[in-house]
Amino acid sequence: MQLNAVATASEWELAAAELAWRSGVFVDGKLQPSRSDEGFSVVSPRDGAALAEVAVGSALDVDAAVSSARAAFDDGRWSRRAATERGRALVRFGDAVESRARELALRISLEMGKPAQDALAVELRAIAQTLRWYGQLADKLGDEAHVGTPGALALVTREPAGVVGAVVPWNFPLTMTGWKLGPALAAGNSVVLKPAEQTSMSALVLGELALEAGIPAGVLNIVPGRGDIVGEAIGRHPGVDVVAFTGSVGVGRRFLAYAAESNGKRVWPELGGKSASVVLPDADLDKAGRTTAWGSFYNQGQMCSASSRMVVLGEAHDAAVAAAIAQADDMRPADPLSGDAALGAVVSEAQLAKILGFVERAVADGAAIAAGTGERFDIGTGRGSYLAPIVLTGVRPDMEIAQQEVFGPVLSVIAVDSVDEAVAVANGTPFGLGAGVWGRDLSAVHQLARRLRAGTVWVNCWEEGDMSMPFGGVGASGFGRDKGARAVDKYVDVKSTWIELDS
Ligand code: NAD
Repeated sequence: MQLNAVATASEWELAAAELAWRSGVFVDGKLQPSRSDEGFSVVSPRDGAALAEVAVGSALDVDAAVSSARAAFDDGRWSRRAATERGRALVRFGDAVESRARELALRISLEMGKPAQDALAVELRAIAQTLRWYGQLADKLGDEAHVGTPGALALVTREPAGVVGAVVPWNFPLTMTGWKLGPALAAGNSVVLKPAEQTSMSALVLGELALEAGIPAGVLNIVPGRGDIVGEAIGRHPGVDVVAFTGSVGVGRRFLAYAAESNGKRVWPELGGKSASVVLPDADLDKAGRTTAWGSFYNQGQMCSASSRMVVLGEAHDAAVAAAIAQADDMRPADPLSGDAALGAVVSEAQLAKILGFVERAVADGAAIAAGTGERFDIGTGRGSYLAPIVLTGVRPDMEIAQQEVFGPVLSVIAVDSVDEAVAVANGTPFGLGAGVWGRDLSAVHQLARRLRAGTVWVNCWEEGDMSMPFGGVGASGFGRDKGARAVDKYVDVKSTWIELDS
């Protein structure tokens, strides 16, 4: 089967049946068996079927990966290569990923349940674009020369930090990986990547694609495995200089502790969210309600920046809620391989149970289900972990559902009476990842946007942006920033060189 041509449901199905799964660790340019006897079974949330038994990495594999990365860094095979050449290799890496886009999209879809077509259009496009963007940036990162003191020259240069540990989640597995690899590799670092347990097999393919693109062996190592084994080993490793982490708040804070208890490595946490979309009465209410709901349900609601709270002012309430309900009705889950599914499967049975628990407690707290059922959804096969989108109305800002990250397709509607109240509600959680404002009065919108405590504010849209826009949060959402030229600074040390000139 030519994966490049796959598009229809039956073609995705056929390709899935022919797919071979490999596991192990990718160290020193080779896929090798793990140094551990442990393994686990990867179950597809699409139908509950076991995809493969995978060997998981161990702390010994992390040691081997860090040694390989360190050797590659120290001998300069990448770190001291001309930036233009590194850039070209990164662009080729992006192209190589794109050349296997359909296969990778299929692997992700089977591993974590998102629609294959979506994985292709969003995930694969994002990682290929990110690698190319940082490749093109690599030789444009000028450093500084200061000549203010006669008889001396001051140079302020960016030096690659060394070995970067990149630990990523499963919800946008390749997008998140691209956001770490692009700037870290562009700056000349070596990387040890740890994908999430749920998406480890698709991540392994990146190792061979990096080699194919001319990124030398040892520069990118991949160690899949359990968070509390492989993730912790990376976090505590004395040979790792920087950790770029995306995931939950609890684990992000663990990484800060690992760093404090080991070598004081730099940690960049990018964590969860409870983002509010504030709807003003003069907004296009249909668009506001629909887009906010879409932002809450897309990717089965498993989005750090999900617009999981719609904060609606006064008379805007009913029309915005009606639009959100209409959007929920338009986003029925379907087989991720069906070719046109709006939603696929939730990542696991455990995640599904967790989401339903949140909804049950919200209803007990007084919220009303305005769309969805609050029960698992059957796509007609009687198998798999599916949930139709849920709109909850009558949510109060202090309820658990309005304070905690659900990570499922659940939108909470909170009615407010004034802009000040909207600001207090929007800013009234520990998180601060994304926020949104809907309205037509530019001054009112802009003033409100300035008052929202968030790393990104979307005005009359949600999730829009391009590679130039940094992405990250404040407060409990962490302080790391991905994307944009500034992300490179996470992976460099600033060096000052003072040169006395002959007089
Ligand atoms: P998670 O924190 O459970 O896992 C993330 C990674 O950390 C995985 O690779 C996991 O194996 C590893 N890990 C788990 N326990 C560990 C431990 N004790 N020590 C070291 N590593 C450990 O998160 P998840 O369930 O994979 O992803 C969902 C979370 O990620 C959500 O909270 C979501 O909001 C967040 N997220 C944030 C962003 C962002 O850019 N801010 C983007 C996507 C997802």
